[in-house]
Amino acid sequence: MKVSEIFHSIQGEGKLVGVPSVFVRASGCNLRCSFCDTPYASWDPEGEDMAVEAIVDRVASYATRHVVLTGGEPMIMPEIEPLAQALKDRGHHITIETAATVWKPVAVDLASLSPKLSNSTPWEREGGRFAAAHERQRINVEVIQKFIDHSPDFQLKFVVSGEGDLAEIEAVLKRVRGWRPEDVQLMPEGIDAGTLASRMGWIGEVCKRTGYRVSPRLHVLMYGNQRGT
Ligand code: SF4
Repeated sequence: MKVSEIFHSIQGEGKLVGVPSVFVRASGCNLRCSFCDTPYASWDPEGEDMAVEAIVDRVASYATRHVVLTGGEPMIMPEIEPLAQALKDRGHHITIETAATVWKPVAVDLASLSPKLSNSTPWEREGGRFAAAHERQRINVEVIQKFIDHSPDFQLKFVVSGEGDLAEIEAVLKRVRGWRPEDVQLMPEGIDAGTLASRMGWIGEVCKRTGYRVSPRLHVLMYGNQRGT
């Protein structure tokens, strides 16, 4: 599996915010979000091929139970199932961070599903050459439903840049079953503290009204927008 980085940090987003975790970042993605903050795992994938055993050994070198399989898109990796199972067999808690466009029966404790809204489509970046494919793939309600039905816990984490995104979020939520308001996380789009703070106010008001949760990007506040955090 091509891996761009493995690092020990603090989970900055979603239900497990603040939990020390090892992150395994798969390199490669089937989407091309305009705001992608890990272009080295999507637009320009880099990294080295690592065997499942080597990844498990590396994870074991850090003193933490929580492992986050992220990307890029970890679910397109052929070895994602044996990797998750091997980590589970070692007693780890597994979060998988995915855009939820591909489902496999993978060992997971928390499926962190981040369906991409139209604010992600790269109409201008690289001359818009990925826009049509991105637009076609970015929402897959059948896959979202499979994750909800087959995961012990899940969250629906939406990256929002403006209040206009809410109608799209509601449209997605109407098409899937089995979620509670507390499973829905609204996370501001942004890679600096000022942008995040400017969007937190109205997101908080929406959450007070709906029962959804505000997700910070704690790692950005703690470390800035840096690799390895
Ligand atoms: S799905 Fe995630 S990794 Fe892939 S392009 Fe979008 S933000 Fe980047």
